[in-house]
Parts: sequence; structure tokens; C-alpha cells
Amino acid sequence: MSMIAGCPTCDAALDWPHAPGCHDAQCLVTGFPVNDCPPGHEHDLGEWTGWLPGEAEAVEHGMWTRRKVPGTGWEQCGPFSGGIPDRTRVFSMGRWDREARAWVIPD
Ligand SMILES: [Zn+2]
Ligand SMILES: [Zn+2]
Repeated sequence: MSMIAGCPTCDAALDWPHAPGCHDAQCLVTGFPVNDCPPGHEHDLGEWTGWLPGEAEAVEHGMWTRRKVPGTGWEQCGPFSGGIPDRTRVFSMGRWDREARAWVIPD
């Protein structure tokens, strides 16, 4: 898995703001993709970093997931087993560090 040039949804270039309404934009208040961001605050949308929210952290911590055969949900796997970065696990295990703009995964 390598960095993508532009945002897959709105095609924002690296370090540029997402287009309005782009659901792959990351809220810097909570770390969540803006579409999944809980209400109760004003979203502070970050620029396109080359990674989807949680993706870099998943890769860094070796958290990968893939579709089970025959398509009944997801299972954990290694990075070379046809998986994708397990962002769901990052969001459920991690703590968002607003200063660092990164998810911190406990050991
Ligand atoms: Zn975007
Ligand atoms: Zn938000």
C-alpha cells in the first residue's frame, strides 16, 4: 500500500483542502472521516495528506483486514494477503492526538 497522489473522492492534491462535501476529509477535532464524525462540534477539516483517515496508522501498526470468503464480513490479515489497512480497528483501539494529527495506538 503506497500513498495515493490525489484524494480518491474529490481528487484534492497533496496538502490541499478537500472539495466541499468530500467524505474522505478528516476532522482534525476527532480524527474521524467527516462523514463518521460525531456531532456536537464544528468540524475542522484537514488537507489531503496522501492517506485516508486512519490509514497511515493502520499501515504503521500492521493492522490489515480482508474480506472473508465468500464475502461474509472481514477478518484480520497480514499486509501481503490482499488486505486493506484496517482503519476500523484504528478508530476503535486508538486515541486521536489532535496536536500530532495522528491516531495513537496503545501497545
Ligand atoms: Zn477529498
Ligand atoms: Zn468533526
